[in-house]
Amino acid sequence: MTVKVGIPRALLYYHYYPGWEAFFRSLGAEVVLSDETTKKIVDSGVRLAVDEACLPVKLYLGHLANLRDKGVDCIFAPRVVSVERKKYLCPKFLGLPEIARFGVPDLPRLLDVEINVHQQYQKTRRDLKKLAAGFDRRPWVIARALRAAKLAQDEYEATLRLGHTPHDVLSGTENTYQEGKLRVAVLGHAYNLNDKFISMDLLSKLREFGAEVVTAEMLRPQDIKRGAGLLEKEIFWTFGKELMGAAFHLLEEGKIDGVVLVASFGCGPDSLVCELVERMYKRGKNAPVLMLTLDEHTGEAGVVTRLEAFIDMLRWRKAV
Ligand code: SF4
Repeated sequence: MTVKVGIPRALLYYHYYPGWEAFFRSLGAEVVLSDETTKKIVDSGVRLAVDEACLPVKLYLGHLANLRDKGVDCIFAPRVVSVERKKYLCPKFLGLPEIARFGVPDLPRLLDVEINVHQQYQKTRRDLKKLAAGFDRRPWVIARALRAAKLAQDEYEATLRLGHTPHDVLSGTENTYQEGKLRVAVLGHAYNLNDKFISMDLLSKLREFGAEVVTAEMLRPQDIKRGAGLLEKEIFWTFGKELMGAAFHLLEEGKIDGVVLVASFGCGPDSLVCELVERMYKRGKNAPVLMLTLDEHTGEAGVVTRLEAFIDMLRWRKAV
């Protein structure tokens, strides 16, 4: 019987889903995604999480409950410690399997493999092979699954760099990219920006207002690395480094008209990184910044009004 592996449409889904999907499909499993975020999913996540949790973690729990209700056999919930050398993900990712187990009752088995590329690269490879062997023990099938995952992930990242957002690609609407008169950088976590419900479809709204949207995923890794290196002391959180690197690179390049900074309420790293980016742009004086903080109570009308006013101001600035 085909094993049904659930993958929550939250957090690292926006970064790694193509690789994960190819891995499990290649092992003969059926991948089941949680539904797109709805008010019901948000409300269930808010009920299950502790009050202090950031919005994306609350949302993650809501998606886990959604998968449980779909009757999947197991859920892929890796403990992602590090995805590159000398950099780490925030502590919430390190404790995610425990947050899931203690937060959501009656979950099916969690596939909580540890990904720690910086300190335990070889162990991570061994653990991934062990995880794969739980589906198919044949070494060539395991090797093929790892290869398929890498290929799919590389292809995904290359497509993003052509100017598409994770949401464009994952939802199959990648042709929405178009050159606009205004270039607006939207900087924030991919799991906030690309979730249409919690971001209130911010990216599409900016495009509807005639702006060409630039996100960190569209930039070349070497540009982000160089941008991040301009700080006296590099940030050791992977996502903070990416946001900072993208912000520095775009500021230096001077080809954007404005920046929308999107932070999560309750996020420690965001409170530091977004503050630094805002200061840096104020000092640079060549692109205004709009700061938005998302939580489960953020109202759409307020966001739309602020976006409209921001775009009007950018147009006026460009015209004078
Ligand atoms: S980086 Fe911030 S928003 Fe993301 S999981 Fe950690 S605390 Fe939450």
